[in-house]
Amino acid sequence: MKKTIDLTIRPQYIKNYTNGYPLISKEFMVDWDQVKTEGTIVHLFDDRKKFIAKGYYGIQNKGHGWVLSTKKEEKIDVAFFSAKIKEAVQYRNDLYHDETTTAFRVFNGEGDGVGGLTIDYFDGFYLVTWYSLGIYAFREAILEALKSQVEYKGIYQKKRFDAKGQYLDDTDDFVCGSRGEFPLTVKENGVHFAIYLDDGPMVGVFLDQREVRKTLRDSYAKGKTVLNTFSYTGAFSVCAALGGAAKTTSVDLAKRSRSKTEEQFRINGIDPKAHDIIVEDVFHYFKYAVRKEILFDVVVLDPPSFARSKKHTFSVAKDYVKLLKEAIQITQKGGVIIASTNYANLNMVKFKDFIDKAFKELGGKYKIEHTFSLPKDFRVMDTFKEGDYLKVVFIRKVS
Ligand code: SAH
Repeated sequence: MKKTIDLTIRPQYIKNYTNGYPLISKEFMVDWDQVKTEGTIVHLFDDRKKFIAKGYYGIQNKGHGWVLSTKKEEKIDVAFFSAKIKEAVQYRNDLYHDETTTAFRVFNGEGDGVGGLTIDYFDGFYLVTWYSLGIYAFREAILEALKSQVEYKGIYQKKRFDAKGQYLDDTDDFVCGSRGEFPLTVKENGVHFAIYLDDGPMVGVFLDQREVRKTLRDSYAKGKTVLNTFSYTGAFSVCAALGGAAKTTSVDLAKRSRSKTEEQFRINGIDPKAHDIIVEDVFHYFKYAVRKEILFDVVVLDPPSFARSKKHTFSVAKDYVKLLKEAIQITQKGGVIIASTNYANLNMVKFKDFIDKAFKELGGKYKIEHTFSLPKDFRVMDTFKEGDYLKVVFIRKVS
C-alpha cells in the first residue's frame, strides 16, 4: 500500500526497542533523512541488520511516530486495526455493560497498540481523535476497522494536528452513521454530562477523571463548601453537589464556562442558582478570597499544563507550588485539597515533592489520603510509563 523505508537504530537505543519501547524518535535513528512523508511505514533494524520492529512516521509532541508491530511481514491494514480494536473493546467489556456509565475511552493510543489514535464512546457514538497527519494517513483503514468491530449510532472525529500540534478546525467533525443531537446526555457513575461532539476540541468532560469525581462525590462532599478552580464545565462541582455539598464555587476564565456549568447542573436536577459560578482568573480569585478571608472545606486544583491569560502565564512545572500555596491558604484546617495535573513531564514523585514544598514553605502539616493515575480504560503500556500522564492527590490539611 505504502512505500516502506528501512532505518537503522543507533546502537545505544537498540535495547529500548527490543524491550518494547513504542515511541519512534528521529534522533534514535542513524539514517532518518530518507523519511519525508507522514504515514510512511518504517522498518527498524539494529546495526547488524536484524529486524526489530515496524511503525509509522507521524509528528506528535516529542516523537516522530509509533511502533506498530514486531513482525516484519505484518501488514498494516484493515485486518491489523480490526484486531487491535477488537481486543480494545473486549478489554472494556465491563464498561460496555455498566448501565450507570455510558462514556469512556475505548482505544487509548499506544496502550492499545496504535500510538497517535484514541477512540472514545459516548452513549452509542464514537469519537476518533487523530493526533498526527501520520496516523490520519491510515484513516480509511482505521474507520473501516472500527465500523466492523462495533455497533454505532454515529462516528465523529477530531484532528489534533497542524504545524503546532493544535486542533484543526477546518472541517465538519461528523464522519458517518447518524448525526447526533447535541448536547448528548451521557452518564458517568449515574451523573449526567452534556456532550457536544461537533463543537471544537473539547467535548464537555474529561473522561480520565471519572474515579476522582466519584471519590469526591461519595466521600468528600457531604455538607462541605467546595471551590472548583479551572472548572471548565463544572464536572467536579456537579459531582460535589450531587454528593451533598453545602455549596460549590466554580472559577474559570472562559466566558462559556458559566452557561456550560449551568447546563451540567440543570441536567442533574440541581438549581444552578444555589451555586456560585465565577468567570475570572483563578489567581485573581485567590487574592480576593485571601483578602476576604474566605475558607473552603475542599479545593479542587486542576489547571491546564500551560495557560496564558492577560496577566499571567502559568505552567505546571514552574508555578504549581505557588498555586498550591494559594490553595492551602484558603482551605479550612482539616479540609482537603484535590490537586491534579496531566502534565506528562512531571511524575508522581516530583508532584508529591511540589506538595511537600508548598506545605513546608507555609509551615503547615498535611496527610495524603488518596492518589489516582489513569483509570483502566486509559490503558497504558508497561514499557511506556510516560503514557500515564494523570496524577491526582487528595491532601488533608492537618494544620
Ligand atoms: N478541571 C476541569 C478541566 C480543566 S480544563 C474539569 O475537570 O473538567 C482547563 C480550564 O482552565 C479551561 O476551562 C480554561 O478556561 C481554564 N483556565 C486556564 N487558565 C485559567 C486561569 N488563569 N484562570 C481561570 N481559568 C483558567
